Amino acid sequence: MRVGVPKEIKSNEYRVGLTPAATAELTARGHEVVVQSSAGEGIDFTDADYQEAGARIVPAAEAVFESADLIVKVKEPQLPECALLTPRHTLFTYLHLAADRPQTEALLQSGATCIAYETVTDARGALPLLRPMSEVAGRMSVQVGARFLEKEQGGRGVLLGGVPGVEPARVVVLGGGVSGLNAAQIALGMRADVTIFDISTVRLAELDGFFDGKVKTAFASRAAIAEAVAEAHLVIGAVLVPGGAAPKLVTREMLKTMKRGSVLVDVAIDQGGCFETSRATTHQDPVFEVDGIVHYCVANIPGAVARTSTLALNNTTLPFVLNLADRGVEAALAADPHLRNGLNVAGGEITHPAVSEVFPDLV
Ligand code: NAD
Repeated sequence: MRVGVPKEIKSNEYRVGLTPAATAELTARGHEVVVQSSAGEGIDFTDADYQEAGARIVPAAEAVFESADLIVKVKEPQLPECALLTPRHTLFTYLHLAADRPQTEALLQSGATCIAYETVTDARGALPLLRPMSEVAGRMSVQVGARFLEKEQGGRGVLLGGVPGVEPARVVVLGGGVSGLNAAQIALGMRADVTIFDISTVRLAELDGFFDGKVKTAFASRAAIAEAVAEAHLVIGAVLVPGGAAPKLVTREMLKTMKRGSVLVDVAIDQGGCFETSRATTHQDPVFEVDGIVHYCVANIPGAVARTSTLALNNTTLPFVLNLADRGVEAALAADPHLRNGLNVAGGEITHPAVSEVFPDLV
C-alpha cells in the first residue's frame, strides 16, 4: 500500500504521524511511504532519516495526498487538508468529530474512509490509542506543577520533595485512572506526599496494591476532597466520566480555604475541567490566578513534549497501520472489530453512533 505522512499544520503542533522507525517497518514489508518534506523537523526527525528508512520525500501536502491511499496523521485534519481527501483515501488520525461540525461536514463531503484513533477499542473495552497521551499528560502534570510552585513562577515557593528536615509538599490527585496513576508515580518519585481520590473502590484497591501503600488512597466524597484540598500544595484534576463533561470537584468556595500560591493542574480541561474556576489555556500562556491560586489548564499538554508523545503514539498506532497496509483497509476493518470501532465516517456517511447522536441532521 502507499502510505502518506503530511506535515501537521495545526498551530504549535510538532508531532508527526509516523516516526522514521515506523516508516522502516512499513517499507521492510514492501509498502511505499511518502513523507512531506520537513514533516518531522520540529522534533528532529530529518528528511534524511525518513529517506534512510526507505521513504520518498515530496515537497508539499498535495503531493502526499496525490501519491498515497492511507494518510497517517496526529491531529484532526484542518479544512485545507479535508479538501485534499477523496473517496480512495483512508485517513487514520485523531478526529474528535463530536466537537467539530465543520470538519465532520468536510469529511462527509470528501467520501474518504476516516478512522479515529480515539474510538479504537481493545479487548477490555478501553481506548488504547488515547492511553499514551493520558500517560504523557499525567506525568507532565507533576512536572509543570513543580515548576509553577516555584516562587519566580508565581507559586508558593515550595519544593515538591522537601529536603531532610523539611516536610515534602502534599499532592492531591483527583481521579486514579491512566493520567492519575502516572501523575502519582512521578510525584512519588519526587518524594512528595501523595493522595489519590477516586469514586471506584475497585480502582482504589488496585492503586493501593500497585503503590504498595506508599501512596494514600481516598474515596472521592465532597467532604474528603474539601479537606484534602485545603491542605494541598498541588492538586491534579484527572477525572473522566466517559462521554460526559468532567464533574466540578473543586469549587470556588474551596479555593478560599487553600494556601496562597498553591497550584491546580486541570488535566481534564479537555472535557470542561474539574475545577469550577478552570478555563482552557495554551502553552504560550499556560497559567492564570484566581484567589491567589495558580491554575494550569493547557488542553494539549502532550504537545509540549512532542518527541516523546510521537514515539509513544507510534508504539500504539503502528500495529494498526501495519494491519491496514498489509491486509488492505476493507479486509483489516472486517477482521478487527476494535479497529472497526474507530471508523467514524466512510463513503459520505457517519458510521459511529456517538457522532450520529451529536449530528442527527447529518445522518
Ligand atoms: P481514565 O478513564 O483512565 O481515568 C479517569 C478516572 O476518574 C477513573 O478511575 C474514574 O473512576 C475516575 N473518576 C470519575 N469520576 C470521578 C469523580 N467524581 N471523582 C473522582 N474520580 C472520578 O481517564 P484518563 O485517561 O486518565 O483521562 C483523564 C482526563 O485527562 C480525561 O478528561 C482526558 O480527556 C484528559 N486528558 C487530557 C490531556 C490534556 O492534554 N489536557 C491529555 C490526555 C488526557
